[in-house]
Amino acid sequence: MNQASYTAPRNSNNLWQRLAANRRASRRLLAAALAIVSIATFFLLIKEDAVAPAKEISIAVNLPASAESIPTTIEEAATVAPDETHDQQEAQSEETLKWTNQTVRSGDNLTTIFQRVLLGAADVHRLITASPLTKPLTAMKPGEELHFAFSESGALAQVKYIKSKLESYIYTAAPEEQDAAYTAEHVVREPEMITAFREATIEDSLFMAGERAQLPHNLIMEVANIFGWDVDFALDIRKGDRFAVLFEEKFLDGEKIGTGNVLAAEFTNQGRTFKAVRYVDGKGNANYYTPEGFSMRKAFLRAPLDFTRISSNFNLRRKHPIHKNIRAHRGVDYAAPRGTPIFAAGDGKVIASGYSKPNGNYVFIQHGQRYTTKYLHLTKRMVKTGQTVRQRQVVGTLGSTGYATGPHLHYEFLVNGVHQNPRTVSLPKSLPIDEKERSAFETATAALMNQLALQQSTQLAMLSGEDQQHTTQ
Ligand SMILES: [Zn+2]
Repeated sequence: MNQASYTAPRNSNNLWQRLAANRRASRRLLAAALAIVSIATFFLLIKEDAVAPAKEISIAVNLPASAESIPTTIEEAATVAPDETHDQQEAQSEETLKWTNQTVRSGDNLTTIFQRVLLGAADVHRLITASPLTKPLTAMKPGEELHFAFSESGALAQVKYIKSKLESYIYTAAPEEQDAAYTAEHVVREPEMITAFREATIEDSLFMAGERAQLPHNLIMEVANIFGWDVDFALDIRKGDRFAVLFEEKFLDGEKIGTGNVLAAEFTNQGRTFKAVRYVDGKGNANYYTPEGFSMRKAFLRAPLDFTRISSNFNLRRKHPIHKNIRAHRGVDYAAPRGTPIFAAGDGKVIASGYSKPNGNYVFIQHGQRYTTKYLHLTKRMVKTGQTVRQRQVVGTLGSTGYATGPHLHYEFLVNGVHQNPRTVSLPKSLPIDEKERSAFETATAALMNQLALQQSTQLAMLSGEDQQHTTQ
């Protein structure tokens, strides 16, 4: 949920590492190596979610004989980084440059975008062979931008690759006498973080409540993920439930550009209040804890499915008609669209993955000695008997196989072989924070919990103030 996705994607191609290993280099050979990278990447199409498979790479020209052993150094590549004169050049030529902007579309590559601004393959080649910092140009995503600056004579003077408001690459045409055609720089900006507070009462759904409180969906999801071990967001959310959240808002040049982490939050479900606070431990791992220092993360998820797929939060208490009529119902039914992913409720081992007439496709998972969970009526099973699974691993998809009148998950929870109500069974206690972290934890989190409490009472006071005004008018 945080904005770490702004970092440039790493490509598995380790040519640069191999090049760096060999230190007896000449710059001309570097150019040849870059040409190979560029030719190979030239033809990669931009995809929404994946880099094109290697088989789509076409090699259009003859390669030098020993491509594998081309010696160079990464330090030399770095010499094409910006120098002091760059800013001056830019300042001098800024007024006379003509800019044209292109947005990356699905299926684009550098060549197609260059074509749109009337530049050819030779121009693409000159740019991508100029610096290792042009490599991100081969992994552009739809919606990102390329800005082109042309001089009065029509020469390409600068290309800006805008990945986000926080990250861009600037390629500036270098003077003739330099070997590389462009100097390159990677610009990363840090947003200012402001602590913000919102609270909401649920009238219809968690997401609607969140929207009314002007919380973005990713933040509402984060809140649900934090409390998902305690609260069954698929079945247990009720009108009148409420939450309060203290979180980071990101600002750049005074403009809000997104949200960061949830710092502390409170969720009241059917009268029971759960609290959570974020703490980064000595090893740099961020986790959520109760104010007393117990991890929010527990051995079992309260509901083993993606609750966002449940269409209505309030009309799902209906018992399955067939089960209800013919025998005691020993589990919970979650109605949701066919294909909804079903998660392993906890780490464990698949003790059965099969098909039977009443159960349809089913998966049974053993968790240690005491616990077993069962998942019935699946459309598709995605694990095999004997397989080890992790909590939240998808074990199958929701369906209506077996004795089922409509798509739903029948979920059972057994303790020492005895069926328990999955929604109320007391789950194993989570571990407390490491004793070595205890005092640092208390120092770091007390202020956040106080702030959360203070904000809530302030809002409450404001609300009751408004009410009084209404009644006296
Ligand atoms: Zn059932």
